[in-house]
This record gives sequence, C-alpha cells and structure tokens, in this order.
Amino acid sequence: MNRFILFSIFLVLFSFQLGYAQTMDSVMTRLLNGNRRFMNQMAIHPNDDRNTILKTSKSQRPFAIVHTCSDSRVSPELIFDQGIGDLFVTRVAGNVMGDGGLGSMEYAVEHLGVRFILILGHTKCGAVTATISGQKPAGHISWLTDKILPSYQRTKEMQGDIIDLTVIENVRHSMSEVMRDSALLDSALRNQIIIAGAVYHIEDGSIQIVVPPQLLTK
Ligand SMILES: [Zn+2]
Repeated sequence: MNRFILFSIFLVLFSFQLGYAQTMDSVMTRLLNGNRRFMNQMAIHPNDDRNTILKTSKSQRPFAIVHTCSDSRVSPELIFDQGIGDLFVTRVAGNVMGDGGLGSMEYAVEHLGVRFILILGHTKCGAVTATISGQKPAGHISWLTDKILPSYQRTKEMQGDIIDLTVIENVRHSMSEVMRDSALLDSALRNQIIIAGAVYHIEDGSIQIVVPPQLLTK
C-alpha cells in the first residue's frame, strides 16, 4: 500500500515536472517561431485587432517577460511577431538590470502570472561599445556603462570580437543579477520561474540563444 502511494506521488510529481517543462519549452518555441516569421518576412501580426484591444482592456495575461535594450532596432513585439497583451517588456539601454527592471519583473510574475523571463542583448549595442571605448560618459550614461564594465573586464582578454563577446557576457551578467537580487528568489514561485538569455542580431533579424532556459535558482 505504502509503495503504491509513493509510486502514485512520484507519477503525479513527474507528470507535473514534465508538463511544466513542456510548457516552458512551448514559450521559447512560441518566441522563436515568431522570430522566424519576422525574419522571413512572413509576420502575421497577431493580436493587434479591436477585439484584442477590448479583451485586454479588462485584464492582461502576457506569456513572457522580455528585458532588453532601448535600441530602436530591437522592438520585442516586432522581432518576435507578437501582439497586444503578449509580452511584458522592460527596456533599458544595454539591457542592464536595476531596481526598476527587477521591480517590473516581480510585478509581472506575482500579479500577472508570468513564469518565463528572457534577457535579450543585441549585436552592435551602443551602450556596450561606449563601455569598451573606456571614455567616461557624461550624466547618467555612466551608470549604464558602469553596469556593463564587469562584463567587459571578463571578456577583454578573450579571443574574438570584443563587442560580441561583451554583449553575450552582459546578457549573462543581467541574468545573474536577477538570480542574485530578485525578491522572487524568496517567494514560493521560485521553482516555477524559467529564465533564458539571447542575443538579437540586428544584421539579419535573427535570435541566438546564449543561455538555454533554466530554473531561476541561486
Ligand atoms: Zn543596445
């Protein structure tokens, strides 16, 4: 009897894990399929009709959080071919992480039920290039470059294109800041949240996954 109960519990947990993994897999697939449509000039521009506007005016249920750069060439709804109410987007130059980004993500997870976070950098990022130049920018821009500097320091001795390397490292760094600093880590939701990292190529419109989806854990 006890063995039967244990086996049943195992089956339920296994099914839950499997189902959850498939759900998260489908979120990434949905984003990548949208990007493929965009890249191949076959965008369907979903959920931008009057009916969607009316429906989402009552409540929103986005399926993913995208944290990315403010760059005018990196508009998540366009490059992933999504519509109104689909993506919860936070944007800061250099896709650096700060209290505003973290607070916005926490809101989306806790109040809107989002369970998938994508940190998205992009090629030829101006904020990354400014950091690598070594010049101290004026005003608040230096806050951005100071946030990117640790990534540059880790990549500057590496072989390869220094901007590309730093863009990827900066995505990883922003992910690690979410994993380190977010209050989500202390919430009961911790084991349900998936985070991934990607780079958008402004040259051809493609997405490169640099950190595959993983659980948001320390
Ligand atoms: Zn940028």
